[in-house]
Amino acid sequence: MLLLYNNYMKHIILVRFGELVLKGKNIKFFINLLYDNIYNKLRNTSATIERHHDRFFIHYDEKDSDFVVNALQEIPGIHSYSKVYQTSLDINICASDTVKVLQEKIDKPTTFKIESKRSNKEFYLTSLEFSRTIAPIILSNLNSKLHVDVHNPLLTLTYEIRNDFIYYYFDSFQGLGGFPSKSSGKGLVMLSGGIDSPVCSFLSLKQGMDIELFHFESSPLTPLESIDKVIDLAKVISKYTFNEKIKLNIVPISNLHSAILENVKDSYIITILRRMMYRIASVYCIKNDILCIINGESLGQVASQTLQSMNTISSVSNTLILRPLLTYDKQDIMKISRNIKTYDISIRPFNDCCSIYVPTHPATKPDIKNSLEEESKFDYNTLIADVLRNIKHITITPSTSFKISEYGLTFLEAFEELRKQGLL
Ligand code: ATP
Ligand code: MG
Repeated sequence: MLLLYNNYMKHIILVRFGELVLKGKNIKFFINLLYDNIYNKLRNTSATIERHHDRFFIHYDEKDSDFVVNALQEIPGIHSYSKVYQTSLDINICASDTVKVLQEKIDKPTTFKIESKRSNKEFYLTSLEFSRTIAPIILSNLNSKLHVDVHNPLLTLTYEIRNDFIYYYFDSFQGLGGFPSKSSGKGLVMLSGGIDSPVCSFLSLKQGMDIELFHFESSPLTPLESIDKVIDLAKVISKYTFNEKIKLNIVPISNLHSAILENVKDSYIITILRRMMYRIASVYCIKNDILCIINGESLGQVASQTLQSMNTISSVSNTLILRPLLTYDKQDIMKISRNIKTYDISIRPFNDCCSIYVPTHPATKPDIKNSLEEESKFDYNTLIADVLRNIKHITITPSTSFKISEYGLTFLEAFEELRKQGLL
C-alpha cells in the first residue's frame, strides 16, 4: 500500500550536489546549509525532504509541481535534479512498474538505452547485470515501441539502485551549480541600476556568498525612480538567497556629489566620485565584518574601467575588491541578466549618480597624484562622515511592494515617511 502511495500519489525529485562532493570533511556543513535553503524555499508547500549523504529526495503533491521545480532552479549548490519514480528492489516489480510508466510516456516508436548505477553494494546484481536482466523484460512488453540504440538513443532510462528502493528517471536538469548559500563568507555588492551589478550579485550568491547590497543615491540630483529600480532588482536577487531576504543599504551622497561637481575638474569627476564610493563602502565593510567589496566593473567597458583607472580608484581602500565580471563580454553578461530576469528592469531609463552629469572627456588614465590634488580642494572627510551616518537599510523580499518615489522628493524624506507609515 505504501509503495502504491509513493508511486502514484506523491511526486519525487532527486537532487544531486555535484561539486560539494569534493569538500571532504566539510561536506556535512555544506549539505546542512543546502538542506536548510531547500527547506526555506519549500516550507509553504506539501514538500518533504528526505536526506541522504549524497542525494536529497523531495516528495511533493502534483499541485506544487511547478513551484518546486522553479524553486530548485534558484538554489545555489544544486548541481542537477531529476523527476524520478520510486519502485521496489524486486526486479520483477521494478520492471512491471517501468513498463506501466513507459506505456503512458511513449506514444510513438523510439530508440532507447538503459543505464544503471548501484550505490547499494549489497544488491545481488552489478549495475551491468541489472541492465542486462531488466532490458529483455521491458523490451518484451514494449517491443513494437522501443528499439535499443546504445550510442544515440532518444530516450535514456536510468536506474539508481539504492538501499531501500530503486529509482528510475528519463531526464536530468541542470541546477545553478556553485555552493550552498552562506557557505563562503559575506561580501558587499555595489549595486547600481545597470545590467552588470545585478549579474554580479547573482554570481556571488551562486558561489555561496552571503551578500548585502550597497546603493549610492543622489536625490534630488537623481530621480527617486532610480531607487525604485534598484529595489525591483533587489527583489529578484533576493530569490537566490538563503531565506529570500536581502539587506539593501541605501547611501545618500547628494551633498558629497554636489561638492565633487563644484570643486573637481571635469575629467576627474568620475574618478573622484568612485574613490569616495570605495572609501565609504570600505568603512561600512570594516564596521560590519564584511570581507570584500564586489562590483560589476568589466575591463575596458568605460573610462573608469581601464586598469589605470581601477588602480587609482581602488587604491583608497584596503578592503579586498572582487570584480566577478572583469573578463566577461557584455553579450555574455546580458545573457545571464536575461536568464535571471533582471535585464528588463536594468534597461528602464532612470539615471543614477554615476550616469548623471557625466563629463564628455573623462580621464581614461587618471593617476593618484592628480586625484589627491583634486580631493584637496574640499573637505570630503566631513562629508563622508555625514554619508556614513545617513545610510539606511531596507530588507527586501520577493514580495516587497512599495515605491520610494511615491513617498517624497528626496530619499531621506521618503524613507522617514515609509517608516512613519510602518511600511519598513
Ligand atoms: P552598466 O550595466 O550600464 O555598465 P553598471 O552598473 O555596470 O551598469 P558602471 O558605470 O559600469 O555601471 O559601474 C561599474 C560598477 O560600479 C557597477 O557595476 C557597480 O558595481 C558600481 N556602481 C556604479 N554606480 C553605482 C551606484 N550608484 N551605487 C552602487 N554601485 C554603483
Ligand atoms: Mg558596467
